[in-house]
Amino acid sequence: RRALGAYPGQVIVDLAALKANMEHLVKRVGGPGGGTAVMGVVKADAYGHGLIPTALAALAGGATWLGTAQAREALALRRAGIGPDRCRVLTWMYNAAAAPFEDLIADDIDLAVGSLDGIEAIAAAARRLGRPARVHVKVDTGFGRNGFTPRSFDGALEALARHAAEGSLKVIGLFSHLAVADMPDNQDFVASTDDQIRSFDGFARRMAACGLKPEIRHLANTAATLTRPRIHYELTRPGIGLYGYEPDPSMGVSSDYGLKPAMTLQAQLGTVKDLDGGHSVSYGRTYFTQAATSTAILPLGYADGIHRSASGFDHEGSLGVDHPGGPVRLMTVQGPRLVRVSGRVCMDQCVLDLKGRSDDLGVHEGDTVVLFGPGRGEGFCEPTADDWAKAADTISYEVFTCLRNRVTRLYL
Ligand code: PLP
Repeated sequence: RRALGAYPGQVIVDLAALKANMEHLVKRVGGPGGGTAVMGVVKADAYGHGLIPTALAALAGGATWLGTAQAREALALRRAGIGPDRCRVLTWMYNAAAAPFEDLIADDIDLAVGSLDGIEAIAAAARRLGRPARVHVKVDTGFGRNGFTPRSFDGALEALARHAAEGSLKVIGLFSHLAVADMPDNQDFVASTDDQIRSFDGFARRMAACGLKPEIRHLANTAATLTRPRIHYELTRPGIGLYGYEPDPSMGVSSDYGLKPAMTLQAQLGTVKDLDGGHSVSYGRTYFTQAATSTAILPLGYADGIHRSASGFDHEGSLGVDHPGGPVRLMTVQGPRLVRVSGRVCMDQCVLDLKGRSDDLGVHEGDTVVLFGPGRGEGFCEPTADDWAKAADTISYEVFTCLRNRVTRLYL
């Protein structure tokens, strides 16, 4: 307890859940050793879960690839001893002028390439190193973000073929990213994903016609890994599914897909005190206690990554609107109880209206409360990151990745 006092909030990561989620995703694509491999997407510090522990859990669960956006994270995987004998690593976000291509090639990291400048810079680095770079060609099938368009693809193929012939590039893969695969109930979105797939297959045919047949095609994120077996190809790239969440709550809950949320965010209460009814709470007077009650300090705020948009307003407040704040589960003598952030989220803290007297509830300073965890099936009324996402008008991805490193990570 004393140790936790120095770290007022803790992220607890369930490594067994990460491993089980990966095992489940591997099973979804046909099982270990089948025609489809799975990449654990561990970018952004493994969606806030911690890069290296998560990578090791994903590998233990049967992933044979790891993917990062930033080059620095791909290098960190290799520096942590996750060598090419253990898994392939792909990285995809850099600018051609400044990326550490030589380090990446030396560490046997696969590189995404989606611009002519990128092709030239990678080939030049490979020549300097005297070793070919393994590249995955990124194509824009409708996402409108990175990658060659159908129009710019001829120039890319010409440059790739030239550098492949001289031995500086090995064209290993072809890949793209889906824009709306996470809403399979929306027919417009289904049609748009179908268009992306047709476009992707067209790129693959054009490549093959130039003698650059990619060994590994990959398009599926979590949503498509779960719902679109036709596009598993040789590799899928799930991220959020590894962490135990469905990509969008409209797809149902994660347990429908055999996934278990791996992250719990908990904290120990600060000051607990009694207030009269009609007392305003926090900056801006957006919340007033409705009756005599107790409040407790939740020692996490926006500097920890708690969204300020998860503030709680009531219509009595100066804004005159209702907005339920982020949910928190606390244990009382009467059993677990859900309370909400009351008033504005501050930099280091929030206030919780306990909606009752702390003496009656048996709630004390130092008690551990849970902001979110595995949720359903794991104890009555435990919120999930989806509940926080709803309160903050965002998505679970942002809830995880915004959590700053001053919230200590503990691994189970
Ligand atoms: N592939 C790429 C290129 C991505 O950028 C991402 C995440 O945004 C993923 C795969 C994983 O997506 P998801 O977390 O929805 O499975």
